[in-house]
Amino acid sequence: MAKKVTVNKDLCIGCGLCVGTVPAVFEFGDDGKAQATAGPVTDDAAIDEAVANCPAGAIVVE
Ligand code: SF4
Repeated sequence: MAKKVTVNKDLCIGCGLCVGTVPAVFEFGDDGKAQATAGPVTDDAAIDEAVANCPAGAIVVE
């Protein structure tokens, strides 16, 4: 089953790491912070890596 990915914008510092590494899932919003793109998440390994590497702990997977 596809996971749902969201970014907690209160925590995101806009470093761009997730956008750079998993552009299929993360994009920058108009506020300069990351957000999840529309559509299902299919690459679990890439998401897990993005969660582990986010310096702000802002990526939520459920
Ligand atoms: S890696 Fe984390 S802090 Fe950096 S842009 Fe993505 S969600 Fe924001």
